[in-house]
Amino acid sequence: MTDVGPITLRELAEIDVGRLKGVGDKKRGALASVGVDTVLDLLMTYPRRWVDRTNEARVADLVAGQEALVLVEVRSATKRVGRNRRTIVEAVVGDGTGRLHVVFFNQPWRERQLQPGLNVALFGKVDVYRGGLQMTNPIVDLIGDRTGRIVPIYPQSEKAQLTTWEIAGWVENALERCRARGIADPVPAAVTDRLGLVDRQAALATIHLPETIGAKERARRRLAFDELLRVQLALVMRKRALERDAVGVRHTVDGVLVDRFHAALPFSLTGAQRRVIDEIAVDLAAAHPMHRLLQGDVGAGKTVVAVTALLAAVQGGDQGALMAPTEVLAEQHHASVTAMLAGIEVPAGETSLFGERPLRVELLTNRVTGNERKRILAALAIGDVDVVIGTHALIQEAVAFQRLGVVVVDEQHRFGVEQRAALRAKAGGTVPDVLVMTATPIPRTAAMTVYGDLDVSVLDEMPPGRTPIVTRWAAGPLLEAEAWAAVRAEVAAGRQAYVVCPLIEESEKLEVASAEATYERLQADELAGLRLGLLHGRMATSDKDATMDRFRRGELDVLVATTVIEVGVDVPNTTVMVILDADRFGIAQLHQLRGRVGRGAHESQCWLVTKPSDDPTVADAANPRLEALVASADGFHLAEVDLDLRGAGTLMSSAQKGRSDLRLASLRRDRELVGLARDAAFEIVDADPVLAHHPGLLDELRLLLTDEDTEFLTRS
Ligand code: ADP
Ligand code: MG
Repeated sequence: MTDVGPITLRELAEIDVGRLKGVGDKKRGALASVGVDTVLDLLMTYPRRWVDRTNEARVADLVAGQEALVLVEVRSATKRVGRNRRTIVEAVVGDGTGRLHVVFFNQPWRERQLQPGLNVALFGKVDVYRGGLQMTNPIVDLIGDRTGRIVPIYPQSEKAQLTTWEIAGWVENALERCRARGIADPVPAAVTDRLGLVDRQAALATIHLPETIGAKERARRRLAFDELLRVQLALVMRKRALERDAVGVRHTVDGVLVDRFHAALPFSLTGAQRRVIDEIAVDLAAAHPMHRLLQGDVGAGKTVVAVTALLAAVQGGDQGALMAPTEVLAEQHHASVTAMLAGIEVPAGETSLFGERPLRVELLTNRVTGNERKRILAALAIGDVDVVIGTHALIQEAVAFQRLGVVVVDEQHRFGVEQRAALRAKAGGTVPDVLVMTATPIPRTAAMTVYGDLDVSVLDEMPPGRTPIVTRWAAGPLLEAEAWAAVRAEVAAGRQAYVVCPLIEESEKLEVASAEATYERLQADELAGLRLGLLHGRMATSDKDATMDRFRRGELDVLVATTVIEVGVDVPNTTVMVILDADRFGIAQLHQLRGRVGRGAHESQCWLVTKPSDDPTVADAANPRLEALVASADGFHLAEVDLDLRGAGTLMSSAQKGRSDLRLASLRRDRELVGLARDAAFEIVDADPVLAHHPGLLDELRLLLTDEDTEFLTRS
């Protein structure tokens, strides 16, 4: 360890917290039990609250039954011996807004400690006693020597016997000992100056011991920025490395094929479609491979965008591939894309002796077998097929392309690192441009953080003329009966319905059993007389297909299904969806499910059914998730609500736990800062791709992001 220059975080991470004054073996063990082993861990244990003694923590604001902290002056303290010979010290304290009675059992020394006029902080539960407020055995901290206006409150652990006062003391001691050398600030001054960020040492000191709430806010902003910058640096380095190392295809973006396709559409593109197509065109024309995520709510019109990208490949003499997560979806895409492209001719290439020829689109799934399969494979290999549509098997199996230029992947969550590697191998040498589409909107800041090595385009405008889905929350049997009545009414009017069975995350077997039971019950009672079909994940593929086909042809009125219908099933005649035990699903999933209706010309309904609580003491609780769904059909808005309700932690997955957790930064609260951190990361990495001139930053990345985290963050 060097003694010159400011102390780096890496050095702080090497100093055991046991070396601080007042941390003996017992406390060392207590700290370890809450994950604090080093001085760095301690300094990154930020207060969870700051009490401004001039505004908060006043006696007048105390509420019986709640834990609270008050900063008060001792008025009097007296000692007596109670029953069982217990000593009781009774004190009266006040702060100019009111008086509080405090009792201590078996703490005789309190009488001497609590001299009238002394300033103390009391932390404890407030009770009502003889008509007044009282605290019993509160935690007492003498704050006579702490003159700041703001008192930090640390996360304390009763189990580990750690008080906020102890932590504050150790933190102070640690900061004191860093003062002589100072704490290094590896973030370039150009960045911190431009963004008006305070320096890191000041920020660390201030977050723990702020003079004012404003100063604390500035410190928090700086430290939150650092957290976000670390994440963004890792992602941006990864992104730039991919771009540097991979050779892509420069596509012809201004060609007649794309123009012909757009001219043949029965509608004009939405503004959002136009914008996203332009964003993609820039990537396609560039020398490095595209890696772009396209987010668009269900029904936003992603298919047109996807086909545009595929045709850009075709008009330059390359091939395009569209991959869907399931065979059923691949077939649906094939049907709709073929219809969209009917009659469109490929212009003759410069080298071609022939004139125009029809565009050739083929379907390749595991259900395409025998000679048909051989024929398609051969045609793909010599470049006779322009666009192939299939499942992921397309890139995993021995499918050879003549020249694969653009790949569109529908539904990002099933497209992992391995598939990307397979793609690279497939293309041999050049890497095709990849567009990953998802119908699960995630908030912009989260997209930048979780998919930060991808570029992101957002289709945030619905095509005109949609009839909105009316969503209702049916809490309890009376409203549930209305839902079944609605199903019967729609079926009577010639429409169809989905019933989604309860999600049972713990076991697919239980889920299937429950779906079967629901099917039996509905068939016997609520929906007796209607033609019901059952669909679940444990059925043989051929049975599933047969059921789907019957439903699609209108031979079934109601499809009772598990969440297997979540993705892609598209039967426009279906106008009602009933989701049972809707409170078991997350916002995003409910929104996805709901997107299966409202696809035709008729007005659609979605019923979210919940049971009344089994627990009679719980009133039919408000459910903000279901309320959000009733109130909004906008997937992006719902994603933001979801982020608000769940916090960012869940989004970042459990792989993110530990040091790399965003401790101060919040993807919700710090939306602006996420973007600034991302811009700064680009600025730094583009000037210095491997951070050769920023060894401190590189160290921090190694220190704060485990390999697992980095891997997680860079997975697409
Ligand atoms: P997504 O895949 O985003 O869920 P689709 O691409 O399947 O949505 O489009 C949903 C429907 O909207 C399709 O029937 C499509 O033809 C239609 N559509 C797409 N773009 C437009 C547009 N600009 N104007 C009118 N209808 C459109
Ligand atoms: Mg789609």
